[in-house]
Amino acid sequence: MKNIYKKTSTYLAVLSAFALCAYQTKKIVDQPNDPIYKHIDPSVSPGTDFFSYANGTWLKQNPIPPAYSSWGIGNEVTEEIRDRLKKINEDALTANAAKGTATQKIGDFYYTGMDSTGIEKAGITPLQAQLNMIDQANDIAGILNAAAILTTTGTRNILGVRVSQDDKNSSKMMVQMGQTGLGLPNRDYYFKTDARTTRIRNDYNGKYLPTMLQLSGWDEQKAFAGAKSAYNIEKFLADSSRKLESLRDPYKNYNKITLAQLNRLTPNINWDGVFKTMEFKPVDSVIVGQPEYYKAVNQALKTFSANDWKAYLRLKLLSSYASYLNTALADESFRFSAKVLRGQKEQLPRWKRVLDTENGIMGELLGQLFVKVYFPEKSKERYIAEVEAIRQSYREHIMKLDWMSPQTKQKALDKLNAIHPKVGYPDQWKDFSTLVITRDSYAGNVMQARHWAYLVNINKLGKPINHQEWNMTPQTYNANYSPSNNEITLPAAQLLIPGMKDEDVDDAVAYGYVAASTIGHEITHGFDDEGRQFDAKGNLKAWWTPEDSVKFTQRAQMLVDQFNGYVVLDSLHINGKATLGENIADLGGIVLGVDAFKKTKQYKEGKKINGFTPMQRFFLGYAMGWLTHQRDEVLANQILTDVHAPAFLRVNVPLTDVPEFYDAFHIKKGDKMWIEPDKRVKIW
Ligand SMILES: [Zn+2]
Repeated sequence: MKNIYKKTSTYLAVLSAFALCAYQTKKIVDQPNDPIYKHIDPSVSPGTDFFSYANGTWLKQNPIPPAYSSWGIGNEVTEEIRDRLKKINEDALTANAAKGTATQKIGDFYYTGMDSTGIEKAGITPLQAQLNMIDQANDIAGILNAAAILTTTGTRNILGVRVSQDDKNSSKMMVQMGQTGLGLPNRDYYFKTDARTTRIRNDYNGKYLPTMLQLSGWDEQKAFAGAKSAYNIEKFLADSSRKLESLRDPYKNYNKITLAQLNRLTPNINWDGVFKTMEFKPVDSVIVGQPEYYKAVNQALKTFSANDWKAYLRLKLLSSYASYLNTALADESFRFSAKVLRGQKEQLPRWKRVLDTENGIMGELLGQLFVKVYFPEKSKERYIAEVEAIRQSYREHIMKLDWMSPQTKQKALDKLNAIHPKVGYPDQWKDFSTLVITRDSYAGNVMQARHWAYLVNINKLGKPINHQEWNMTPQTYNANYSPSNNEITLPAAQLLIPGMKDEDVDDAVAYGYVAASTIGHEITHGFDDEGRQFDAKGNLKAWWTPEDSVKFTQRAQMLVDQFNGYVVLDSLHINGKATLGENIADLGGIVLGVDAFKKTKQYKEGKKINGFTPMQRFFLGYAMGWLTHQRDEVLANQILTDVHAPAFLRVNVPLTDVPEFYDAFHIKKGDKMWIEPDKRVKIW
């Protein structure tokens, strides 16, 4: 994934002491609209902190708005798109479109979301039926029944069940069961004792949980007791949940068992009944990611009382739907989830929140309209060509590797050749014909839509894989690699530079911004610590010789050590192991991008634009891909829960491993960005 985050002010303060000399840039401006040129902070030397040099002026001019917890190029893209989508929604609102059409669904969804009077009047009634169902659960069977039904309408609780491809047989869909059930971002939040985490935890169980219960109609005493019960259940489950880095081993997180074995693993759970309630066709076997988690659930069902479970499930439902309910609930949800956890100061205006929700529910309906206007065929062709340029660069890199045997090289090339790119937008759009949206209730629409999406997912069981389907919308600012399909998905929004026509972007910038930071990054995921364990057909299978595996792991360990060395906030240091896959992908993306770019006309001609050589522009374009800054709360959250390192490190660390970067910016010994040649990591 390409998710983007950024820096801490602490880091900046330390670095600014080193920023003694400004890097010399020429004053000639050939392209006044050149983002590369406009973003540079000439008071920072590229050899001291390349990220701040490349992006510093933009960052100073664009502080994080109060309604955001981070702000960067991805936000600019998102804002631009949201403005366009608003117009589409407002037109749909008054179109009087025929029932069942895309326009009717878009218009009616927007209507209910914007109807703040109706939402206020309805209060908690859209959840009443589910609240009653939870209240009637008086034994383990009843609790499981309620948990199963909540899952079918998108309320995550103890059952982390979904349908996706079998890691060891990518042509088959399987029921997959993973750890879940927590209300805090992950297991570490229940145990870490530093001041920041303790404050969050205390707010969660002492304020947020009881307030939500009170707002749902419970009296104070009952609410506090209920919050305590729910928190104790979560802590119990957290104790048996795996840490972030332990989720990266695809073999250890793959346990295929029969339904009979599952029933034996968790004797307090009648899975036949649970799956039936969850609307599954008969299930004969499942893949359990973390069996110890399900053992803990099994134990917890006996350990905690029915009343404890009622409070837990009630809170799960409230947290899951609060944003679509009356002001009191929505505000408390915002206070904890956005303010306390992410440092966001104020809520986004309602129309933006509604559009974000709508995007999550029927994004492809909106996406079709979006790409028509903003992603011309010519851009699609340009980035398909960049994919092929990166693929060719990777072939050459693999063939030249001095540490890999010819045997493994051949298999790597086979896999590389088989990678399927999805660029811009789907060739075949999702079918939303069975999704029903009305003007009755906002939360009701969300519930309907979540149930619809749930059924779409579980009905994949037993069916062939649809390789045309996209797992992201074209207007999403992100990209990904799918190991099971051996494919990359590059949504249109990720490829365009906000405020610029694609045809005005020179190749140097396009190769840095897209080919290196996105295409090369995603393709390298097929060969990172996790991805390399899947073969050309997307199956988890050992295709490396044992010696080559050892050599790969040794090289990867250098990157783990490199990142482990960074403490970014208070006592929080980067988890080199958890972020390894992303760091391998970043470094791979840069080196593949550099060599692909060297083959372009612009590189060969060597003409400067706005005082910068083509290779300098390439690296500046790469840094623009990570142009973002974030609040400390987000940074702390990211370090504990995210496999991506903060954005400034995704620029400053891998670049120190790349010889062309040293040459392009004349980095020399003594510069902060300089590391000894034998310490530089080279994997691909
Ligand atoms: Zn990634």
